[in-house]
Amino acid sequence: MNIADTMAGRDLDALRAAIAGQVFIPGEAGYDQARQGWNLAVDTRPAIVVEAGSAADVAQAVRHARAHGMRIAPPGTGHGAEPLEPLDGAMLLRTTRMRKVRIDPATHTARAEAGATWQDVTDPAAEHGLAGLAGSSPTVGVAGYTLGGGLGWLARRYGLAANSVTAAEVVTPGGDLARADASHESDLFWAIRGGGVGVLTALEMRLYSVGELYAGNLFLPIGRAAEVLHAWREWTDTVPDEVTSLAHLVRFPPLPELPEPLRGRAFIVIEAACLSDTGTGAELTGPLRRLGPERDTCAMIPAAALGQLNMDPPEPGPSHGDGAFLAGFPAAAIDALVAAAGPDADTPLSSVEVRHLGGALTRPVPGGGAQPSIDASYLLFAVGATPTPDLVSAVRAQAQAVKHALAPWHASHDSYNFKQTPAPANAVLPPASYHRLQQIKAAYDPDQVIISAHPVRPIRS
Ligand SMILES: Cc1cc2nc3c(=O)[nH]c(=O)nc-3n(C[C@H](O)[C@H](O)[C@H](O)COP(=O)(O)OP(=O)(O)OC[C@H]3O[C@@H](n4cnc5c(N)ncnc54)[C@H](O)[C@@H]3O)c2cc1C
Repeated sequence: MNIADTMAGRDLDALRAAIAGQVFIPGEAGYDQARQGWNLAVDTRPAIVVEAGSAADVAQAVRHARAHGMRIAPPGTGHGAEPLEPLDGAMLLRTTRMRKVRIDPATHTARAEAGATWQDVTDPAAEHGLAGLAGSSPTVGVAGYTLGGGLGWLARRYGLAANSVTAAEVVTPGGDLARADASHESDLFWAIRGGGVGVLTALEMRLYSVGELYAGNLFLPIGRAAEVLHAWREWTDTVPDEVTSLAHLVRFPPLPELPEPLRGRAFIVIEAACLSDTGTGAELTGPLRRLGPERDTCAMIPAAALGQLNMDPPEPGPSHGDGAFLAGFPAAAIDALVAAAGPDADTPLSSVEVRHLGGALTRPVPGGGAQPSIDASYLLFAVGATPTPDLVSAVRAQAQAVKHALAPWHASHDSYNFKQTPAPANAVLPPASYHRLQQIKAAYDPDQVIISAHPVRPIRS
């Protein structure tokens, strides 16, 4: 449906005049670029794209959408666009221009506008010896990552990023600006972290005193995957909450821009971040380093450099991935993973990782959101690049095959952020949270105007 068919040109002009940002409709120069997010495999064709420049722009755009009977998808970077439903007839309300970040070193807090990426936060926070609960990639948006939980390199010590949010500035589906925190609009504050009950315009979060930490990667040939995975798994039972780590089966493409020792080769990599000094870090990682990695990058690094550890792609590209929380990762699960994605597997997946959870992630936080804690011990995520139609089907099939191979160890629900296939929120949140979310959704968004990564069906009871 073309917006020009449904919205009088006058109204479109009025919207354009009223906002500092930009508006694009199909056929206009800039529309294709504006609708495109990080994952180039996602090809949505919304009726209108609004690139908001401010919270007031967001409110104007929401009111216009409502007046014209359009639903609203509020993504930022588009890293998490894969599970979204088709956006035909909808407004894509992007916040990518809203990237202001303010660090308050006195209160150890940050305020980030909804379009900020993690790099926008980690760099200025580091100037004060502070760190937020960023994930593996500095290009991921603070908003989507945090509203979906947010599992980062400090997760076992400080928990989910969502549970370090102290306030959220939101435009409600009615087009009103609201500030939600523990004592104002507390239902909205709880539900925005998982519920798709409004458009976030900014959030405030706690920062932590982390200047440097001991972190790095141990690269071993993928032929040793079984031995290394068993050793890592046993090691994870012994480490304190200060250590967050993952085991990563990586297949590097033969690209000239990659360092020669990695180019075209496959590895089992252990990545670890230890909130410690060098001596303690070396001691903690000792059992793994004694496996004799051919490349060992462990050292004291600035917290802002954690974004390089997982070797996530620095530029947009087409990809597909999927993940699952695991209740456990015993020897039989390791063997199943090695069979599905290890040295002998003929797989197009470039990366299959298992992250160690536990620690602070298992402890519900007062004032936390719809994901109070994570009742799972590990997280599986498998991903591959999909530049051609053949690879789309091959990568999809293999990601599901890996996930299926570990089905006996799946936890009761999937991970909100790592579930990259369409699924309702009850598939990625604890059951009790989902029921409360349905009630709050009914109060704030009974007509399901807001399209979110994992939708919530409103219910009155
Ligand atoms: C390379 C890479 C690395 C990753 N690493 C991690 C990791 O370490 N830990 C982790 O937990 N996750 C990780 N993820 C998953 C990531 O957190 C999710 O894909 C998340 O949804 C991305 O948020 P975004 O804002 O960048 O994406 P977007 O696609 O812009 O947003 C995703 C969803 O978030 C919601 N949303 C975003 N902005 C708003 C807003 N302003 N108002 C209301 N809702 C909004 C919407 O439902 C939207 O559909 C990674 C993803 C990638 C691609």
